Amino acid sequence: MRIVLVGPPGAGKGTQATRLAEKLRVPHVSTGDLFRANISRQTELGKLAKSYMDAGNLVPDEVTIAMAKDRMEQPDAESGFLLDGFPRNVAQAEALDELLRTEGIELDAVLDLEVPEEEIVKRIAGRRTCRKDSAHVFHVTYSPPEKEGVCDVCGGELYQRDDDAEGTVRKRLEVYHTQTEPIIDYYKAQGLVVTISSLGPVDEITRRALEALKRG
Ligand code: AMP
Repeated sequence: MRIVLVGPPGAGKGTQATRLAEKLRVPHVSTGDLFRANISRQTELGKLAKSYMDAGNLVPDEVTIAMAKDRMEQPDAESGFLLDGFPRNVAQAEALDELLRTEGIELDAVLDLEVPEEEIVKRIAGRRTCRKDSAHVFHVTYSPPEKEGVCDVCGGELYQRDDDAEGTVRKRLEVYHTQTEPIIDYYKAQGLVVTISSLGPVDEITRRALEALKRG
């Protein structure tokens, strides 16, 4: 299956993407995780991306699209992928369509995770991410690690992402509304969008998502 996951920051995209990718046996492709991995390795791309990410802005399309394309062309993504955080604006959605057209493949669904704005701030304020692997995410109240400050999966140190600071979150939400939300209409026009509520226990949301993808 080829799926795009959309939703505001704090909707639980990363958490659900990890779980859904496992169930559907496709790689989880997160442009945010790819940028954070570049930041940890202190690559040129990482240095460039960090300045945009810390301000809550989108990293320029040219580098983002090249990085996403490179990832989607890896052998493990040949028979499917779950995109998390890409595309994030209409230009990226058009670039993805172009790439899929060249390969002669199509998206199966765009899963839209809905969450009320007041819930978003609560979720992001308590979010803690693993320094070793930013796909390992916890929440101080909603899904605390067994040992405070330590990742249950790999023992890495848990920290608060720089872009999870309150001021940056507001900017990211604004960017989501102005730049990312329009891709929902773009994909609605292609009949691809399935929307689910992202409120409730994590397992329940995963179940809802799998049901919706079956129906969609
Ligand atoms: P995420 O982990 O998906 O919340 O992404 C964190 C940050 O990485 C975003 O706020 C952007 O600065 C950057 N980023 C991730 N994906 C993209 C994308 N598709 N286009 C531009 N910037 C992105």
